[in-house]
Amino acid sequence: MSSTIETEARVTDYPQSSGIRYLLSWILWPGLLASCMFAVITGLNRGLDPVLTLFSVYFVLIVCIAILERVMPHEPSWNKNDGQIGNDIFHTIVNYIVVGAVVEAAVVALIAKLVMLSTTLTSASIWPVDWPVWAQFILLLFVGEAGSYTAHRISHEVPFLWRFHAVHHSATSLYWLNTGRFHTIDVIETVVLALPLPLLLGAPAELMFLFTCFTMFVGVLSHCNIEMRFGILDWIFNTPGVHRWHHSTVIEEGNTNYGENLMVYDVLLGTHFRPGRQIHVVGTDTPVPKSILGQMIKPLTGYKE
Ligand SMILES: [Zn+2]
Repeated sequence: MSSTIETEARVTDYPQSSGIRYLLSWILWPGLLASCMFAVITGLNRGLDPVLTLFSVYFVLIVCIAILERVMPHEPSWNKNDGQIGNDIFHTIVNYIVVGAVVEAAVVALIAKLVMLSTTLTSASIWPVDWPVWAQFILLLFVGEAGSYTAHRISHEVPFLWRFHAVHHSATSLYWLNTGRFHTIDVIETVVLALPLPLLLGAPAELMFLFTCFTMFVGVLSHCNIEMRFGILDWIFNTPGVHRWHHSTVIEEGNTNYGENLMVYDVLLGTHFRPGRQIHVVGTDTPVPKSILGQMIKPLTGYKE
């Protein structure tokens, strides 16, 4: 395998790996995701604090990804410093975590009042609480995806919203840290559109927590710079195999694969794109500033001088 070819070609075939590296490239994505969900569920069953459990597991996942990105990168040049580390830490902590949590709490409180009002009137929630937990979780993935697919798609197709989402697509490499590169408005839009439907249907809080964990794990894995293979999983989940194409600099390739966890609405609505090859050049033509101040303010005023 030649890293020179990898770094120069925009699109390549999957590399000719063999042995343990080939085996790992197949089992890492499902293995890491399943291990993280198993660890969270085990922690909850043992009475550990849910938020502490989530962040502990998330931290271990990040460490594993960061090591694997050095050992078996998908694109070696993406491991170089892109000068955005400070900005990405700011976006991740302030926007992705703090703003995301505050808006989520506000939406949950608002919907809780509405649900209480409606259940007083109708005397029942329509969520199938008698189903097995695994079946409820799959239902929640489908229901939750409807809002996040819509939020993500309009953030690409509505020019005003693209201004904010372009900050996320300004990354010229994909790796674990720039998963959280989101503008405040982008985070608010996603939470406000994605959360209400499952909450209005009465999805239980414990299930919503597991859904949040799953979404965070899939999110950071979708950006990881690790050589992996996915096969049929590319049609079911938001794997790096499809999400890297979503970050393509070619607009027709980038305006695809909007799913946050699942690919179901992309497949149904014709936005699924999976050529069976690998992409190595990501970014956007939108002139997103390099500075954190510019990244926060420029989307509000527009990119034209
Ligand atoms: Zn996008």
